[in-house]
Amino acid sequence: MDSGASGEAEGRARKAGVSSGPLAEPVRRLRGVGADSARLLERLGLRTIGDLLWHLPQRYEDFSKIRPLRSLVPDQKQTALAVLGRIGQRRTARGLVLTEAELYEEDGRPSQVKATWFGRSFVKQSFPEGQRVRISGDVKWVGRGLQFTQPKMEPADREAVHTARIVPVYRLTEGLKEGQLRRWLHTAVEGARDRGGALVTSPLVNEVADPLPDEIVSRYSLPRTPEALRQVHFPDDPVKLFGARRRLAFDELLVLQLATAQKRTRWLATAKAIPLRAADPEVASWTLSLPFELTGDQRRSWEQIRGDLARSVPMTRLLQGDVGSGKTVVAALAMRLAVACGTQAALMAPTELLAEQHHRTLGTLFADEAAPRVELLTSSVAGERRVRLLERLARQEVDVIVGTHALLEEGVEFQRLGLAVIDEQQRFGVRQRSALREKGELPHVLLTTATPIPQTLWQTLNRDIDLSTIRELPAGRQEIRTEVRTPDALPRIWPWVRERVGLGEQAFVVCPRIDPSEDPPAHSAVLFDAADGGTLPSAVATHDELRAGALRGLRIALVHGRIPQRERDAIMERFRDAEIDVLVATTVIEVGIDIPGATVMVVLGAERFGLAQLHQLRGRVGRGERRSFCVLVSPVTDSARLAAMTERTRAADGKERVLDGFELAQRDFEIRGPGQFLGQEQSGLADQLRIVDLTDIDPRLLEDTTAEADRIIAADPELERPEHAGLRAAVGELWRRYGLA
Ligand code: ADP
Ligand code: MG
Repeated sequence: MDSGASGEAEGRARKAGVSSGPLAEPVRRLRGVGADSARLLERLGLRTIGDLLWHLPQRYEDFSKIRPLRSLVPDQKQTALAVLGRIGQRRTARGLVLTEAELYEEDGRPSQVKATWFGRSFVKQSFPEGQRVRISGDVKWVGRGLQFTQPKMEPADREAVHTARIVPVYRLTEGLKEGQLRRWLHTAVEGARDRGGALVTSPLVNEVADPLPDEIVSRYSLPRTPEALRQVHFPDDPVKLFGARRRLAFDELLVLQLATAQKRTRWLATAKAIPLRAADPEVASWTLSLPFELTGDQRRSWEQIRGDLARSVPMTRLLQGDVGSGKTVVAALAMRLAVACGTQAALMAPTELLAEQHHRTLGTLFADEAAPRVELLTSSVAGERRVRLLERLARQEVDVIVGTHALLEEGVEFQRLGLAVIDEQQRFGVRQRSALREKGELPHVLLTTATPIPQTLWQTLNRDIDLSTIRELPAGRQEIRTEVRTPDALPRIWPWVRERVGLGEQAFVVCPRIDPSEDPPAHSAVLFDAADGGTLPSAVATHDELRAGALRGLRIALVHGRIPQRERDAIMERFRDAEIDVLVATTVIEVGIDIPGATVMVVLGAERFGLAQLHQLRGRVGRGERRSFCVLVSPVTDSARLAAMTERTRAADGKERVLDGFELAQRDFEIRGPGQFLGQEQSGLADQLRIVDLTDIDPRLLEDTTAEADRIIAADPELERPEHAGLRAAVGELWRRYGLA
């Protein structure tokens, strides 16, 4: 950390009212920490005593139960009370110092149990024969007796720090010994004692301020912060430890919820959007003119959106729904409403091809004579055409503009932007998302995604965005038959692909990398099940092999990220128009246009893809009437992700089916953790949380802290009351450090 970071730590300390107190002192001031130690601690980002106190254990070892030597059992971690016998020391063949101690029972009877240490010559120097000790560690059978290997040991008459208790285990850095760090934390938490047991420095943990108002502490019967911190470092027992961790988690979640509640309240108080309302009969006429009937979930989502649009508070709503669940038509209705109210709408998609597809789709969805004027703006629209389009847009001669990030460029101006829709929002950065909103005076914003976010995570992090969900797929969709195969099945798979093509169908073959020299792209570099990179399929090699071999004579094409966008689009168009039979590709096709004739998706090296990706890839087929197939080819036979892709569940109607996108997202979350669901700034936040594990949020705690946060913000929106000073400091720090503002 640089000096800026220490300034920040001081700032934090000052806010909490302890700028001159012992917590702001450098770690060096702690008894036992010298200049060299301080440098080691700095590598862990720990400069002040306050920093050190917030370096919480990663895990614990329960050595609390003490047994006599004769009751020890092999292959378990245990603690024994013993008297040290002869301590021998010798060098092993590899030059390490081996220390070996004979152990006697407490009453002096001999035992068969020994203790050995490698490389810890200080043991012999600091422990005399005959000393009563507590010794904690792994016990194993060695030769004729049991042996402690590399145990922790301390004199039996001293306070239990390393043995005979629930022992904290901390994250270390090279050169820093676990015993040292534990000792320093013990000094900071419990104070230091002299040989006689008298306290010579006081417990610094008592200086840590408690940010919670008394009222909340008593309502939830929470321990106070200093006591909670003490128990988290050196727990008396598992129950106290649990209560203490829960208390610190309460604080973290409460502060997060306060930050979002505050943001939302400020937004509601100041932001004014144009209310967009239309009478029921008019709205009904739009839905009636659609080429199909809306599903129940589409209708519900649309009504929620309509409710939001009618208000003068700008909507920020995420419409989530599985691939193919029909989000576009819901967005189209919202845009239609915006236009009917005399405003303009914009729809931004992540690729040109998708933007073109939306442009065409809107053309068919708005087929009546009162239809909005829809135009397309991508980077392919250039020169005079672009200039004229932008002029018409600025004069509101265009009602709906569909485009890519080209919409964000300078010169793209609206007369009156009422609604901005961001399709596949996870494909855009925060900057880009807010840039589209800034094209108007606080337009309503609708975001869509097919990558659903697990619910507790959503409620923790995104309370300022409302959520609509489409769970049900349009009627008549067929399940895509999914199978996992090992590569030795390929000689049977390719002839089958040829057969499907013979029936007039089309196939995708997806590979994890472009060519044999390339590493797989970073976004597919999830948990690697296979270490064998040498045989990882590549699109270029697969394309060449299939062309010359198993699929000779078929019309085969190749697309990947190194082919220029324009050419890629041309190939995709030819594929859509059925001028290509088999398309070999990388994940560039993951989000994309409808290819109604494609019925086969073969994924090679399937273990290299994340679950969300595999699900998206599978969603590329089955868009038409015909039965579709997805074959996941992988040498890995025990991948949890591949198993999830074929896992079946019983739906509410009693029928068996594969997991939908929501269920897969939940599985993915369990397998891979929250990173993939978070934006960059939120990932930073996840890393910084000290206690709360975003993969495992206690829903009850979330509920309690959410309710408290709402109550506090309703009563004291700016946290100005004296009893909220601690919380205000904590929220301020959150804004500053994680840029959630
Ligand atoms: P996504 O949610 O993945 O964006 P789309 O909006 O592209 O899905 O819809 C997928 C396909 O389903 C489109 O061809 C669309 O016309 C069709 N579709 C959408 N809603 C319905 C419906 N209610 N009934 C029948 N087909 C529908
Ligand atoms: Mg879509």
